[in-house]
Amino acid sequence: MDTQVAIIGGGPSGLAAALTLSRSMFKTTVLNTVKPPRNAASPIVAALPALDHRVPAEVRAEMRRDILSYPFARFLDEDVIDVQQRGGDFIVRLGDGSQLTAQVVLLATGMQDTLPSLVGLEECWGRSIINCPFCHGYEWKDQKWGIYAHRPEVIDAAEIYRNWTSDITYFLDPSISVHEERRQQLSGMGMTLVSDLPTKVLIENETLSGVELPDGNRFDLECMLIFPHQKQVDLVSRLDVSLTETGYIAIDEGFRTTVPGIYAAGDMTYGGHQNTPTAIHMGNMAAATIVMDACFRS
Ligand SMILES: Cc1cc2nc3c(=O)[nH]c(=O)nc-3n(C[C@H](O)[C@H](O)[C@H](O)COP(=O)(O)OP(=O)(O)OC[C@H]3O[C@@H](n4cnc5c(N)ncnc54)[C@H](O)[C@@H]3O)c2cc1C
Repeated sequence: MDTQVAIIGGGPSGLAAALTLSRSMFKTTVLNTVKPPRNAASPIVAALPALDHRVPAEVRAEMRRDILSYPFARFLDEDVIDVQQRGGDFIVRLGDGSQLTAQVVLLATGMQDTLPSLVGLEECWGRSIINCPFCHGYEWKDQKWGIYAHRPEVIDAAEIYRNWTSDITYFLDPSISVHEERRQQLSGMGMTLVSDLPTKVLIENETLSGVELPDGNRFDLECMLIFPHQKQVDLVSRLDVSLTETGYIAIDEGFRTTVPGIYAAGDMTYGGHQNTPTAIHMGNMAAATIVMDACFRS
C-alpha cells in the first residue's frame, strides 16, 4: 500500500480534504496535473474568507504549506490517467507511466469550461469577462454589463444580476426560445434585449470595451458575463462512477460515489454556486467521511 488516500486534484476541494486527512493522521497523496487550473485566468480569488483578493496560485501555495506542516501528505504534480480496482485497493496510474496503490480515492478534479467561440474572449476571460457575479461582480458594480445568454439559466437569473448593476444588455441566443412574457419582464427591468450572440470582443487597454454581432452592429460594454457550459475531465469517463442528469458526479450525503471506496468533492459534484469556499467545505466533509468510514471498517 503506497497511500491510504489518493486525492486526484489539488484545487481547493482536494487541498481542504488533504488538510483534514493530515490532521486525522491519514497517509495521503495529492496528485495534481501541472496544467493551469480553471480559475488561473483570474487575477484574484474573491469572497474567500481571510484570503479575499489573493492571487489564485498563492491561495493554493498557502494551503499546501499548511498541509506540509504535518508529516502525512505528499504531493505529486502528475496527471492521473486511470484508476482501476484490484482486490480491495485502487491502482492509480499516472501520466509518467508510474502507479501507486491506494486504499480509497477522492476525486477532486473540478470541471472544464467550454468557452464559446468568440474572437478576443481569452484576452478578457477572468478579468473584464466574468463567470460569476458573486465572485467578480463587485469590481464591476454599476457599470455597463452584457449578458451572453446562451443558456436558459442565464435568462432566468436576470433579477440576480440586477443586484450589481442596472445597466444590462442581454444578448439572446436565437436558438433558445424566450417567452414573450419573459422578454417583457426583462425590458420592464430596464434591460436592453438583443436577439443575437456577439461573435467578437472589442478590447481597449487589455480590457473589454464592447462586442460586435455577426451583422457588424457594435455595443459598448465594460463587463460581460458568460456562464460557460462545463464538462468533466477525461479521467471521469474511464471510471464506473455514475453521473447526475446534468453531468455532475452522483454522490450521497457523505460524498461517496456509486463505487465503494471512491469519493468525490468540489465543482465536479455540483453545478450550482461553484466557488472556492464551497469546494473547501465539500473537501472537508468528504475527508471526514473517509476517516469515519475507515474507522467503522476496521
Ligand atoms: C475564471 C474563474 C474565476 C473564479 N473566481 C473565483 C473567485 O474569485 N472566488 C471563488 O470563490 N471562486 C472562483 N472561481 C470558482 C473556483 O475557482 C472553483 O469553484 C474552485 O476552484 C473549485 O475547486 P475544485 O477543487 O472543485 O476544482 P479546481 O479548482 O478546478 O481544481 C481541480 C484540480 O484538479 C486538477 N486535475 C484535473 N484532472 C486531473 C487529473 N486527471 N489528474 C491530476 N489532476 C487533475 C486540475 O488541474 C485542477 O488543478 C472562479 C472560477 C473561474 C473559472
